[in-house]
Amino acid sequence: MDTALRAEALIDLAALRGNLAALRERIRRTGSAEIMSVVKADAYGHGAVPCARAALAAGVRWLGTATPEEALALRAAGIGPEQARVLCWLWTPGSPWRDAVAQDLDIAVSGLWALTHVLDAVRAVGRPARVQLKADTGLGRNGAQPADWPELVAAARAAEAEGLISVTGVWSHFACADEPGHPSIAAQLEVFREALAVAEAAGLRPEVRHIANSPATLTLPESHFDLVRVGLAQYGLSPVPEAGSPADFGLRPVMTLQARIAQVKRVPQGHGVSYGHTYTTPGETTLALVPVGYADGVPRHASSSGPVWLADKWRTVAGRVAMDQFIVDLGGDSAEVGDLAVLFGTGDHGEPTAEDWARAAGTISYEIVTRISARVPRRYVGGLD
Ligand SMILES: *Cc1c(COP(=O)(O)O)cnc(C)c1O
Repeated sequence: MDTALRAEALIDLAALRGNLAALRERIRRTGSAEIMSVVKADAYGHGAVPCARAALAAGVRWLGTATPEEALALRAAGIGPEQARVLCWLWTPGSPWRDAVAQDLDIAVSGLWALTHVLDAVRAVGRPARVQLKADTGLGRNGAQPADWPELVAAARAAEAEGLISVTGVWSHFACADEPGHPSIAAQLEVFREALAVAEAAGLRPEVRHIANSPATLTLPESHFDLVRVGLAQYGLSPVPEAGSPADFGLRPVMTLQARIAQVKRVPQGHGVSYGHTYTTPGETTLALVPVGYADGVPRHASSSGPVWLADKWRTVAGRVAMDQFIVDLGGDSAEVGDLAVLFGTGDHGEPTAEDWARAAGTISYEIVTRISARVPRRYVGGLD
């Protein structure tokens, strides 16, 4: 890490490509599904455009985002329709429907209201749209309810027959895929199969049928269908930590978060540390200041529990995580201003992982990496260009 930097998130694009290769290998053992690389939320904090490019270099042909704005940003960065199909699934009435049609995005449609927006945009832009119908098979979030599904399917089929849209996909999303064996999983698969049958009977011939996210990709081959939507696993983190570590699934963490120590000093016994004095030095000791805080995405919930690798040892945050900094008690050890503190990384050199931070903060590793803020510069290694 450059000595000029306070902190950085190091992003290993070779690890990302390796993870996609490992996932493809795994999927191919049981079927022929393709991978959609999910790069929403700035690729879970890893950087959407560099990660999308790395995924394309790894042979992926489908990208997924939540918002159409995220999808359009990929197109604006030069990832054209000939390079990648891009599905986006979180729409509101004011969304950029026309741009989405003009840029050849695959538009997720969860209800008739959305289909109406698509058809208006198609007429305005003068070209047909790609539509992927989403069924709510039990998540209770986006998607059409089974009771509303036949009507949505019929309307889409009619628009397709008129040449206004092409229904390229039928899909859904799991509620509890990260709890293998949860009864809702089999129930959702059953509802999904029924939704597919309704679509088929209405004359739809979707190019891709998909329901699997990372946990289902890793633990439930019968959910793979034609496409698996992989987010967390491609970033090298385990979506089912109880069932296996990243290494157990052949994955390697992509992000390392590190910072340079900004202050080292001796303090007497009984010295309060950070806001609220929730930590007091048990004896005369050395404190090191790590210059990242919750404004950088370090969770305040990990006060007095978050792990850090510093001066060749695993250590714990002493007291509150503040907006811009936190303290580590080095005990009898020493460190220098400018030394590297590794909050999380691959774990290969003893350092904690994002999963360790998730446990310390009472959350999931998804949130740990995604919340690393724009104040932390990303540095890319392992890229092909
Ligand atoms: C975020 C998201 C995914 C990816 O989930 P992971 O568990 O990270 O693989 C897949 N599908 C939808 C609809 C999502 O919102």
